[in-house]
Amino acid sequence: MAVDTIRDGVVVSMSYVLKVDGQEVGRADADDPLEYLHGAENIVPGLEAALEGKRVGDRVDVTVPPEDAYGDYDEEDIDEFDKDEIPGAENLETGMVVEVEDEDGYVYIGMVKEVNAETVLVDFNPPLAGKTLSFSVEVLKLREADEEELDHGHPHSLDDFYEDEDEE
Ligand code: ZN
Repeated sequence: MAVDTIRDGVVVSMSYVLKVDGQEVGRADADDPLEYLHGAENIVPGLEAALEGKRVGDRVDVTVPPEDAYGDYDEEDIDEFDKDEIPGAENLETGMVVEVEDEDGYVYIGMVKEVNAETVLVDFNPPLAGKTLSFSVEVLKLREADEEELDHGHPHSLDDFYEDEDEE
């Protein structure tokens, strides 16, 4: 059965432009669209809610506050590490992305906030934490997700964006 509106369990292809404070920070064009599974939290909640019930060809302009996007910026979410805890620390610069492993082997991705003589401050907030996001979206294509996609909670058709997750 053809899908005509966006609801849970539908795979949505869309083009979008994302702006923060008037600056473009992300986009997917129609020839290389973003695809996501609706209702599976693949995209930020404020955008997902705005797309509910939309149809192919609909254009949606929505402004999403931090609480419906990546959350507020958390000053507590910055940690200080001795340089010898971070591989390659001698070459680190502010703004670089680093991976830090905790004692249980979990790897966290953060951004270097400050490099000191002996230590490095790493910011673990999502890059768009605390930001209000302005999306301009066009809905390009809709289809039912298959069983496996519903089970995994993400679409399989487009690129290999989710491949790493599946290999675990
Ligand atoms: Zn999968």
